[in-house]
Amino acid sequence: MTTSAQLFEQACRHIPGGVNSPVRAFKGLERPPVFIERAQGAYLFDVEGQRYIDYVGSWGPMITGHADPEVLGAVRERLDLGLSFGTPTAIETTMADLICEILPSIELVRMVNSGTEATMSAIRLARGYTGRDKIVKFEGDYHGHSDSLLVKAGSGALTHGEPSSPGVPASLAEHTITLPHNDLDAVERCFAELGEQIAGIIVEPVAGNMNCIPPLPGFLEGLRKVCDRHGSVLIFDEVMTGFRVALGGAQAHYGITPDLTCLGKIVGGGMPVGAFGGKREIMEQISPLGPVYQAGTLSGSPLAMAAGIALLTKVREPGFHDALAQRVETLCSGLEERAKAAGIELITQRAGGMFGVFFTGQSRVDNFAQATACDAAAFRTFFSAMLDEGVYLAPSAYEAGFMSSAHTAEDIQATLDAAERAFARLAQR
Ligand code: PMP
Repeated sequence: MTTSAQLFEQACRHIPGGVNSPVRAFKGLERPPVFIERAQGAYLFDVEGQRYIDYVGSWGPMITGHADPEVLGAVRERLDLGLSFGTPTAIETTMADLICEILPSIELVRMVNSGTEATMSAIRLARGYTGRDKIVKFEGDYHGHSDSLLVKAGSGALTHGEPSSPGVPASLAEHTITLPHNDLDAVERCFAELGEQIAGIIVEPVAGNMNCIPPLPGFLEGLRKVCDRHGSVLIFDEVMTGFRVALGGAQAHYGITPDLTCLGKIVGGGMPVGAFGGKREIMEQISPLGPVYQAGTLSGSPLAMAAGIALLTKVREPGFHDALAQRVETLCSGLEERAKAAGIELITQRAGGMFGVFFTGQSRVDNFAQATACDAAAFRTFFSAMLDEGVYLAPSAYEAGFMSSAHTAEDIQATLDAAERAFARLAQR
């Protein structure tokens, strides 16, 4: 049997860090990543035959569990027709109609191949539509790895961006203004000074890339008002929250209508898919209707559309999201109870089918500074103990957890039993 450790060593020979996306590398965890061979329902199975209850779900898409027979069946059915034609196909229209029906703020939608492409294209469109260069984003929000969005905050609300990755030109980063998440005053101050230069605001309506941070009351409403007042485009990055926080995403859950929405993950059913769409007037600026260029050789791949449509059809079933949120509630309240019993400082935060676990004495976590003030060492010990127990959590304290409809009451109970033992280990540190 080849172990994960051996496979990782082999992978590192020709793949940077042995992985094709950095979070997979278990950096700082002092153990090699687990190599997965197959997955079914709520479970991952590694190359050594170990089973894990999975709360990552391929980082979001697997909302009905892994290897969903209906999703796989839809892909199989398309397969023999050919993989890609570089022409329009009817299935793309089916997908567009479905998205526009589920998310009424979207009047026109363009399919792309990843969340990164969706956000990159949405901000280009916001810039092209308004004729302005500056973009506001929030510290700790992740919108993929395009140059304009890989920018961290400087201090102070009006600080111009600095590249957070070498390779992002400072001359480009200076157009990205980074403000504290959930801080509407900072947004107001920024717009008071620079409003007529700001093309748009991009926000994770529930931040899922610094653990799980729901919006403070009034935050999203405030962003909507500021954008209206200044003629800026409000972009919700719902790559993670779309079809998960509620069927209609965070915009339905919180009742705020963005101008543009970015989608990914669930919309592709596990295939490489993203999408962006919104107000007709803005989307009409996209090529070939308008002058803002955006394209993709494999965009709208029929196989990917088939997977996505099959999954969206399932999550539309009445009661799906209520049941998902109930599972999250059972898991999170159970974790809090058991942590308390073990004397561990821990809180959870949740929104629909996503959740976060914070090792902290704070009563809530609303932004990047508070998220990074949590006990990262405690998280690492907990993560490793849970992995040993056969529970696969995101290998970082700054990622949200994802529930699926395949997680049974027994799976959640087994997770809580595992957590009880992990907390006991943690308490002995
Ligand atoms: N936006 C958000 C909110 C995300 O969570 C992610 C990925 N986790 C992205 C954009 C980028 O998506 P992708 O990795 O598909 O490029």
